[in-house]
Amino acid sequence: MKSSFDLNRQNKNTESKIVVALERISEAFRVLLWNESKENSLSPIQIQILIFIQFHAQEKCKVGYLADEFNMTKATISDSVRVLLSKELVTKETDPIDTRSYSLSLTDEGKSIAKKASFFASLIEQPIEKLTQEQKTIMLNGLLKLIYDLNKSGIITIQRMCFTCSFYNAENGIHYCNLLKTKLTESEIRVDCPEHEIIT
Ligand code: SF4
Repeated sequence: MKSSFDLNRQNKNTESKIVVALERISEAFRVLLWNESKENSLSPIQIQILIFIQFHAQEKCKVGYLADEFNMTKATISDSVRVLLSKELVTKETDPIDTRSYSLSLTDEGKSIAKKASFFASLIEQPIEKLTQEQKTIMLNGLLKLIYDLNKSGIITIQRMCFTCSFYNAENGIHYCNLLKTKLTESEIRVDCPEHEIIT
């Protein structure tokens, strides 16, 4: 096994430098999310749950789905949900067909925190805006391929990206969505698509 953090190797190896750069960026996410959490007296995962509920369909806002989404156990997510319920930031919506199952909705206060908190990563987006369109497309494509491979090896669980969607088709380097019935340019490939359907 070779370490990306071994400076002798890292300085001669582009892959290692990319891994270390990604680690630095993940630290930036951690710090920004932590700052946002402190402001609201919530934990980082509680903030992430609020943001997730704000932007995703009701059927995905269940403890089991959230556990897979954030690579955590159901027990950990349930603890966070209990806090959010006690702070009246979310409410339970019971499934009319299976009354033991429920999804989560934001209260007005929960929506207000989620809306503000959802900007926590804007400081990371700003420098990316300064790249050329070509640089952005290359970066996006590389990251999508990396996420796809990490998903295949089970390190990242849930994915709602085009490459893992049953509607996605690629022929001769052309990306196509069979649901939207349109070609997708490299920069139009989605990372988190509301219409994504898992390949069965
Ligand atoms: S439905 Fe969404 S994820 Fe699936 S191929 Fe179309 S755009 Fe991509």
